[in-house]
Amino acid sequence: MALWRNHVKASAVRGAVAATLAVVSPGIAWAQASGPSSGFLLQLVLFTIALLLGWLLWRVRRERLQQETSLVAEIREREERLNLALWGSGDEFWDWNIRDNTLYRLGANQLLGQGSREELTTEDWRTQSIHPEDLPRVQKLLQEHIVGHTDVFESEHRIRNARGEWVWVRSRGKVVERDASGSPLRMAGTARDITVIRRAERERRVALEVLRSMSEAVAVIDLDFRFISVNPAFSRITGYSEEEVIGQNSRLLDSSQHSAEFYRRVRDVLERTGHWAGEMWQKRKDGEEFLGWIEMSEVRDAMGLRSHFVAVVNDITDKKRAEQELRYLANYDTLTGLPNRSLLSERLGRAIVRARRQETRVAVLFLDLDRFKDINDSLGHAAGDRLLKAAATRLQATVGASDTVARLGGDEFTVVLEDVESIPAVERMAREILTAFSMPLEVDERHDVNITPSLGISLYPDHALVPTDLLKFSDTAMYQAKAEGRNTYQIYNETMDAESRRRATVLASLRKALDRGEFRLVYQPRMALADGRITGVEALLRWHSAELGEIPPTVFIPLAEESGLILPIGDWVLGEAMQTLKRWRGHGLNEISIGVNVSVLQLLRGNLPEQIRNLIRDLGVPANRIELEVTESMVMQNAEQTTHVLNELRKLGITLAIDDFGTGYSSLVYLKRLPIDTLKIDKEFIGDLTRDPDDEAITATVITMGHSLGLNVIAEGVESEQQLGYLREQGCDEIQGFWLSPPLDSHRCLAFIRSWQPGTVAAIPSPY
Ligand code: C2E
Ligand code: CA
Ligand code: CA
Repeated sequence: MALWRNHVKASAVRGAVAATLAVVSPGIAWAQASGPSSGFLLQLVLFTIALLLGWLLWRVRRERLQQETSLVAEIREREERLNLALWGSGDEFWDWNIRDNTLYRLGANQLLGQGSREELTTEDWRTQSIHPEDLPRVQKLLQEHIVGHTDVFESEHRIRNARGEWVWVRSRGKVVERDASGSPLRMAGTARDITVIRRAERERRVALEVLRSMSEAVAVIDLDFRFISVNPAFSRITGYSEEEVIGQNSRLLDSSQHSAEFYRRVRDVLERTGHWAGEMWQKRKDGEEFLGWIEMSEVRDAMGLRSHFVAVVNDITDKKRAEQELRYLANYDTLTGLPNRSLLSERLGRAIVRARRQETRVAVLFLDLDRFKDINDSLGHAAGDRLLKAAATRLQATVGASDTVARLGGDEFTVVLEDVESIPAVERMAREILTAFSMPLEVDERHDVNITPSLGISLYPDHALVPTDLLKFSDTAMYQAKAEGRNTYQIYNETMDAESRRRATVLASLRKALDRGEFRLVYQPRMALADGRITGVEALLRWHSAELGEIPPTVFIPLAEESGLILPIGDWVLGEAMQTLKRWRGHGLNEISIGVNVSVLQLLRGNLPEQIRNLIRDLGVPANRIELEVTESMVMQNAEQTTHVLNELRKLGITLAIDDFGTGYSSLVYLKRLPIDTLKIDKEFIGDLTRDPDDEAITATVITMGHSLGLNVIAEGVESEQQLGYLREQGCDEIQGFWLSPPLDSHRCLAFIRSWQPGTVAAIPSPY
């Protein structure tokens, strides 16, 4: 500053003297020229000159004074401006007097806090102000400048601010004064706080590094979708270098896999919402297309206005391919490449949905190669595989590409035909397939093989409504085709299904059985183990059908229950059993009880108590000689509804037995609540007594449990002396079974009971 001030002063004085001389010089010249006679005149001239000089000097001094005051004001003003500018910019001005070793800093409010003017020694600056780590570097740079190696001094380093924190500054300066020998006297410059800039810079560098190392392609595009910058992965994935794409429209990558409309929509969404993510096909520089998972987001500037978009592109072609391969493996047969069972059911399901909507038909053709096993065995598996492949190809070629041909495994194929107009149309297709297979299949160069198929056909909605049934029925029909001599087709009809056909015929006969009097009852005696007495019999139903012959109750009882026929049949059984009881009592068998099996349907109908009361009244038989047998599981499943009826029956004085005990719930809690008298251990457990320790344990437990509930325990199905021995040991109350007697018709049973001698137990040979 001083230098500047001195310079101003010197020039002002020089100017004033020059002006004075310019005025005075002509006067002197004139006086000298006028000669010696004019002494007064000379005095006058000299006086005038002195006066003039005095005035001039006064003026100069005044001007100088004026100038000085205005200069000071000007300087102050400039200093003020500089200060303001420094304050506004946050920069610091520094002035280093090298000779004095002092540093003067101005405008360092931001850096140094309040009290911005600070003069400090170079030594203080070195030890306190600058970061020790940065000092050597700063000194080196200063040295390089001072000796003239650099035009300017420029350094980035940390200095301590007024709060004692380290802040990064960029300092620039120059030597401004040198002595005559060129040694620097002063250096001045500015320092700027770049902490924020440096942080941002570092972040930018990190971000850039991240972008560079990212495996995803990243592109920054402007609002007109032109590339601004891309990362190396972008070039790797798309094949375009950065220079090639910058300025280009991102349309460059659009692939023909999507319509222009698609890309327009994407850009539309991006423009509206600032974001778009999804799968998109893109085209590389070499024209190859790749599937990208793309995420595009807007970037906003400091003012919050959208400035760019950033697109991140992940090449998922391989991932997708792997996914597709997996899906392929899960859905296709690897040998023939045809859909497998799982894809078939899916497609069949969809075909049915369509057919239902459009009210059309779907046909399922089940194809099995005739005697494939023989060929496979004689030619070998490799040839067998080739044969299957050839068969698959021929089948698909015959059916056409639009219909599904699947391989279910082995030599079984399925064809799904949609939009089937009529059954003859399906038959036509079946015949075409048969014709196609009349030509030999080429297994290899040397072998042609003749193989025929058998076809079964089922139709939606004619035969079934769901895929599984359609497949099952077409399979049934295929077997029928085989039975018809192979190399033919059969359309499913209900009579084909052996099981359902049998059930249907049995049911039809069963409906007529009552009217035709085809039922009869047989009676199986039971014996008390304590004294060998015959305590009663169990009435068991028999059906001899005119058409079907003898049908066991295990077959027709479930059918009768399903169809509800058990109700009239059960009525008949009860009536018949009561008649027998009455008749036997007429023969003096007053101690004999009769057990009748009742179905849960009879219990649920609710009028069973009333019915039995009527029978008792009409026939005059005692209620306490009637025992109803109900199965455990049936009662348990309907405990709420049946308990009431059982209580009613109990009130009549008849006894109740739980049949087949052990096979169902065997819940002691429930058993306690039921109004029962007797437990019948199922013959399943008795049969394995003395062989299976588990069954022994169950039997023993049931006996103990039954006794603890005060129940009479009967073991049914007793066939051997050993079983009898075990049951006696366990304290079982009664036994029933072939050991004692098979079920007998009423006359023979009556004879059996009458001839029975307790103690002389002898088993009658079983007619069963
Ligand atoms: P259930 O009530 O458990 O009848 C006992 C079954 O065991 C009878 O079969 C009987 O002939 C058979 N049996 C008797 N002693 C032995 C033996 O020592 N060893 C073997 N292996 N079996 C023996 P059945 O007569 O074929 O009756 C089968 C089932 O049909 C009965 O089982 C019962 O649940 C039901 N049933 C029979 N008649 C009627 C009826 O009139 N109404 C109802 N609702 N069901 C009946
Ligand atoms: Ca029974
Ligand atoms: Ca039983």
